[in-house]
Amino acid sequence: MKLIKALALLAILAGCAEESDTANSNEGASLILTNARVYTLNWDEPGLDGSIKASAPHDENGWRPDAEAVAIRDGEILFVGNDQEALAFKDNSSRVVDLAGATVIPGLVDSHTHVFGLGALLDKVNLVDVATEEEAVALIVERAKSVPEGEWIVGRGWDEGAWANAYPDKALLSSAVPNHPVFMESLHSFAGWGNQAALDTAGITAESEVPVGGEMRLGADGQPSGLFFNRAVQMLRNVVPKPSRETLTKQALLGLEQMATDGYTAVHDAGLDAEAMSVLEELEAADELPVRVYAMLSLRDEDLIRKWIEKGPDSDTDSMLVTRAVKAYYDAALGSRGARLLYDYADKPGHRGISGDGYGFNQALNAEVMKAGFQIAIHAIGDAGNREALDILEAVFKEDPSTAKNRHRIEHAQVISPEDIPRLGQLGIIASMEPPHAMEDKTWAEERLGSERILGAYAWRSLREAGASLTFNSDNPGSDHSIFYGLHSAITRQDKNQQPEGGWYAEQKMTADEAVRGYTTWSAYASFREDDAGIIEPGRWADLTVMNVDPFVLADEGPADILRGQIVMTIVNGEVVYER
Ligand SMILES: [Zn+2]
Repeated sequence: MKLIKALALLAILAGCAEESDTANSNEGASLILTNARVYTLNWDEPGLDGSIKASAPHDENGWRPDAEAVAIRDGEILFVGNDQEALAFKDNSSRVVDLAGATVIPGLVDSHTHVFGLGALLDKVNLVDVATEEEAVALIVERAKSVPEGEWIVGRGWDEGAWANAYPDKALLSSAVPNHPVFMESLHSFAGWGNQAALDTAGITAESEVPVGGEMRLGADGQPSGLFFNRAVQMLRNVVPKPSRETLTKQALLGLEQMATDGYTAVHDAGLDAEAMSVLEELEAADELPVRVYAMLSLRDEDLIRKWIEKGPDSDTDSMLVTRAVKAYYDAALGSRGARLLYDYADKPGHRGISGDGYGFNQALNAEVMKAGFQIAIHAIGDAGNREALDILEAVFKEDPSTAKNRHRIEHAQVISPEDIPRLGQLGIIASMEPPHAMEDKTWAEERLGSERILGAYAWRSLREAGASLTFNSDNPGSDHSIFYGLHSAITRQDKNQQPEGGWYAEQKMTADEAVRGYTTWSAYASFREDDAGIIEPGRWADLTVMNVDPFVLADEGPADILRGQIVMTIVNGEVVYER
């Protein structure tokens, strides 16, 4: 990035020297997008109740794009407006793309991702929807061709339910793949399947001790069959070595490239340890990051945190990798009843979850990080978890008022007591939320919380109305990061099957304008980039997402069709990083 900027500057200087006859070519665009439905978001934000402001391109006929073309040069937006004027920036080196009516919005940001986790998942042999053992073995044989002998081949996704009448064993797998240890985890992680090389590498024999609550299947010969259930799965899982540096790098790129393919121009990575950070730093130095990465350091890696406290937050915010945030973990998840609640779980009396010290949260280090100028992004799910997190942030603000300006975030902000909802706005804390989580949790969330507390859960509208800033994201790979799923969830509060009718606690729905801003303008604010990104306007970064559906129009005319959307093009810093 810095190199590109420096070269651009040289080009400008060179241009100045022979100014008289090259004045026009200095105006040339590298890329011109025409014939598009461009929503610049360069109008007043919707009111806190979602009301559309007069400056928005909206009237009694609904939404309409506010431009049709964008011209780009040197990583920046040069022009936005109509086709004719944009084409005036065309010169010999310009690439002109007729988008045939596709929609262009500011580059999408997934403000809470785990790209290494996503990459690791993509790197595994994928057995999801594979019907038979033979088919699975064929896929593993194929993978073995590109893996050095002796190295592990890991996969996941064979369906322990669907395969229950014909469970696999080691026989076919061992003869087809004799020279690589193989471990294939089932779809729901309740079963594991390996070959003889895996058993040998793990030192597993008929005499091995099986963990309580687990089962190691034996074959007719009395030897381990290669199939393990429940807690016995760890007998194989635990011997798979940690990924090598090379593998981590490959997985980071796989994850980031997938995000580019899926329309994202930037990710906020929620919790990086020293090794992950060094992989990203190396990729950045080699100019290989396909999308921008806003790094949140893991508070759990104290050595890494100490190093950064000494160094201070990144000030070079133009870089493709920016580090100025720290991810803290305050409580656990609602589904597994680990989220900390103020009162007992409705479906488990006497139980309120865990938080803070009990969950490994280092409060003193958290305060130090805040005082060193970092933004804290604190994971809090339950209403007690959120209240305690707010108390902790507020106490540090009192000790050192300069810390209050750093746009601290609560990640998930999933269940919040009505008394605490206004505090986010008052304290300037961003609620960083996943619209799809509401749709995935709705079947059991009310059982956990009861009919009253559920009103403060996934409460996007209540939070906005109380003055909190929002940013939307996926928390992948645990949840599907498709932007179409994200927008559909936010706009309809319905799942992928359009259930329930009218939307789940529909009063919390977002408008199309709010939903799109949640993944663009508001995410830019959450990463201190509101002057560079989030709006399509000359002088800003040329980060753009092109899709084949218009979410603004569809929100009114057929929101289910948003789910059928596809990404057409992803542009980061003026470069096309994905094109369908
Ligand atoms: Zn996460």
